[in-house]
Amino acid sequence: MIEKMELLDVDKLIEEFESMTKDAGNVQRETLKKILEENGCAEYLQNLGLNGRTDPESFKACVPLVTHNDLQPYIQRIVDGSSSPILTGKPITTISLSSGTTQGKPKFVPFNDELMETTLQIYRTSYAFRTREFPIENGKALQLIYSSKQSKTKGGLIAGTATTNVFRNSQFKNTMNAMQSQCCSPDEVIFGPDFHQSLYCHLLCGLIFREEIQFISSTFSHSIVHAFRTFEQVWEELCADIREGVLTSRITFPSVRSAMAKLLKPNPELADLIHKKCLGLNNWYGLIPELFPNVKYIYGIMTGSMEPYLKKLRHYARDLPLISADYGSSEGWIGANVNPNVPPELATYVVLPDIGYFEFIPLKENVEEAKPVGLTEVKVGEEYEVIITSFAGLYRYRLGDVVKVTGFHNLSPELKFICRRSLMLTINIDKNTEKDLQLAVEAASKLNTEEKLEVLDFSSHVDLSTNPGHYVIFWEISGEVREEVLEECCNCLDRSFVDAGYVSSRKINAIGPLELRVVQRGTFQKILNHYVGLGAALSQFKTPRCVGSTNNEVLQILCNNVVKSYFSTAF
Ligand code: AMP
Repeated sequence: MIEKMELLDVDKLIEEFESMTKDAGNVQRETLKKILEENGCAEYLQNLGLNGRTDPESFKACVPLVTHNDLQPYIQRIVDGSSSPILTGKPITTISLSSGTTQGKPKFVPFNDELMETTLQIYRTSYAFRTREFPIENGKALQLIYSSKQSKTKGGLIAGTATTNVFRNSQFKNTMNAMQSQCCSPDEVIFGPDFHQSLYCHLLCGLIFREEIQFISSTFSHSIVHAFRTFEQVWEELCADIREGVLTSRITFPSVRSAMAKLLKPNPELADLIHKKCLGLNNWYGLIPELFPNVKYIYGIMTGSMEPYLKKLRHYARDLPLISADYGSSEGWIGANVNPNVPPELATYVVLPDIGYFEFIPLKENVEEAKPVGLTEVKVGEEYEVIITSFAGLYRYRLGDVVKVTGFHNLSPELKFICRRSLMLTINIDKNTEKDLQLAVEAASKLNTEEKLEVLDFSSHVDLSTNPGHYVIFWEISGEVREEVLEECCNCLDRSFVDAGYVSSRKINAIGPLELRVVQRGTFQKILNHYVGLGAALSQFKTPRCVGSTNNEVLQILCNNVVKSYFSTAF
């Protein structure tokens, strides 16, 4: 079956993409027309008085910009089982749970066949460009992908994370095969009910098929780093399983056990080889190419909140190329990475003009009054908030992401992801984004390197319970660290927020000294478990980088695990 599968025609895909982006303006108009024609009978659009008009001007005049909160009542009715056309012409039968990192709880968003098709389209597009630069043979991929629990809503709709809805769709596997990217693990592992057990089995499958593995991937690169950090803990157990051909008793789910039993045969030579390789590594540097000699690259979303994991990923990957995957969300896809040669720090995403209708709110002007501009009207060098109109019932939906236009690919803009708009440390006139926090942590953790210390993960919080309020940065670090170094790290963090509002407020003590709180090992794993418990999946997990007071449970996990705290003396 797999052998007969037709491979994708890479040249044709690239040609299609080129001609579509050359005509981006018209394609956008046509896409909007198609969306509005397909969904014109939906109650939401009917109420806005479009009366069948499908041109961008009428659309913008009649349809307001909305946030998820505005659409919540409509989505809730769908979730509760109303089968009338509410947001889309065809009824929605599946719901996606977005990771909800910002609010602390997952949001419901509609999922449908059109969204599935655009997902596969973007996968195919970036695959075509990637494969031209980094050809792969017809082997396997170690895909560190996980499903969330798929549940039924009160109204009988299927609900799971967007990635789960994608992985469960039969077309996903066909497309992976056509992209020579067949996952080396059986479905029982991907859809296993416990992600710890699935992770272990993914690693085991990877080792069993080590010679065939062509690339390693995940949705967000956090899952790759997480997997190899776990490998450091369980490698001997993995070797023992391979040696004996018997799966560890830690894997308890019968479906997973029986699927693995079909793959696992006693193989002492392989166990010895892996054992020797692991012992030969220095602090696990180059682990990935040692384990998987034919891997061509590592693939997953590596920008935005994933950037802090790049250092560790490079450590494991040695000189293997790291390629950032595409840009999208549970609400819809936006752009493809068509320049796989570019390092992840510089990765940009070209908007696919036919997967949705896109508008951009310029962020230079006063936001409330700024008028959104169309896809081909954006300006290079400017920052914007992304507005999506999708085939899945979202119209002029504020995604909440900030992007910068870095150039154009033909007539379609190339976007660099900057940050989530709402994730902002602010007390009075100071404004610091997720990116500012990341840069501050990078600067401060450099002080650590000579001590061979590593910031495993981090988050932050604005503490207004003190007067004046102050920033709190949470760090999980590996190893023992001298007090003086951490005191200096704390000062460095404080100094690294160079925003003029912050610096001037600190100087007059309108913002109190920054506090660095070191948390116990495993704290961020507890946060991950917390989100998975809410219905999230490891595949879509993003560490919340700024935790607001409303996200009380995550804040409690952080605060309850503090082992040491330091106050800055930098000002
Ligand atoms: P989710 O809530 O799980 O659907 O995640 C969607 C969000 O993840 C987007 O709104 C972005 O904030 C972030 N994201 C998705 N793709 C990328 C990317 N390529 N680079 C940076 N951030 C991304």
